[in-house]
Amino acid sequence: MAISDLQERLTDLDAFQRATGDWGIPANYIPELASIDTEQFAITVATADGQIFSAGDADTRFSVQSITKIFTLAIALGRVGDQLWNRVGREPSGRAFNSIVQLEQEREQGRPRNPFINAGAIVTTDEILSGRAPRDALAEIVQFVRTAAEDDDIHINNIVAASEIEHGHRNFALAHFLASCNNLKNPPEMTLGTYFHHCAIEMTTQQLAMAGRFLMDANCGPRLLSTARIRRLNALMLTCGHYDGSGDFAYRVGIPGKSGVGGGILAIVPGQASIAVWSPGLNRYGNSQQGTEALARLASQMNWSIF
Ligand code: GLU
Repeated sequence: MAISDLQERLTDLDAFQRATGDWGIPANYIPELASIDTEQFAITVATADGQIFSAGDADTRFSVQSITKIFTLAIALGRVGDQLWNRVGREPSGRAFNSIVQLEQEREQGRPRNPFINAGAIVTTDEILSGRAPRDALAEIVQFVRTAAEDDDIHINNIVAASEIEHGHRNFALAHFLASCNNLKNPPEMTLGTYFHHCAIEMTTQQLAMAGRFLMDANCGPRLLSTARIRRLNALMLTCGHYDGSGDFAYRVGIPGKSGVGGGILAIVPGQASIAVWSPGLNRYGNSQQGTEALARLASQMNWSIF
């Protein structure tokens, strides 16, 4: 299937996914996200030649949640380079996004498995926060996303952030455990406040697909990272981007992707496309049910795979 057929393909895909009626279950541990209407679906593809194609609710803003971990990782690597890996590993966890059990094991000793599980992302945020106020760290993160998307109309939803602060007991437990292992430089509450707020950034699939273009490494949109770093980020997305569902996603979809509990997924076809998909109901791994299915179908139809 050629790029010229993409609009028709996405329109068909939107109709197909809705017809399945298989909407999954929204994240229920953040009350502000739990009440969402699950029967929503959107997809946008930004191609390397500068075109953009969408179908479904592509103008609806959703909570991008863990997808922001891609951007915070890019910023942290820019600030401290490979030193970041002294504080966080690069191995898949084979566990849920908020698992605490591995952190205590002898091998980990408070060094999280990878930067995409919550513990690892909290450490990454802590690194960005070092030496400055949360407000300034958040301003840098939001600005990075806006620059990547070439769109200033991207904001944090403070109500979602407050909802997570109030109910995020797991994340507080993770942060305090990290602090007990001397792997937080800032007070846990301060690092977590920053983390919850960047997770609460909202975007449409149109904005997210645009923001993901730099990961294609294809001379389109702003150049934000070196080719070597882009490859490494994509490698981490492939191996760790879907938590305990990462192997299944790689097997079925065959391209790097990063999910969020808001139901979004950003997936990259290196050199060719940046794809944002959203549907708020999640599958048993905590990744978008319809989004995962749609990406598997689209990648197969377009013959998109890194393998
Ligand atoms: N803010 C969410 C949390 O920390 C992000 C998790 C996700 O999107 O997977 O629980």
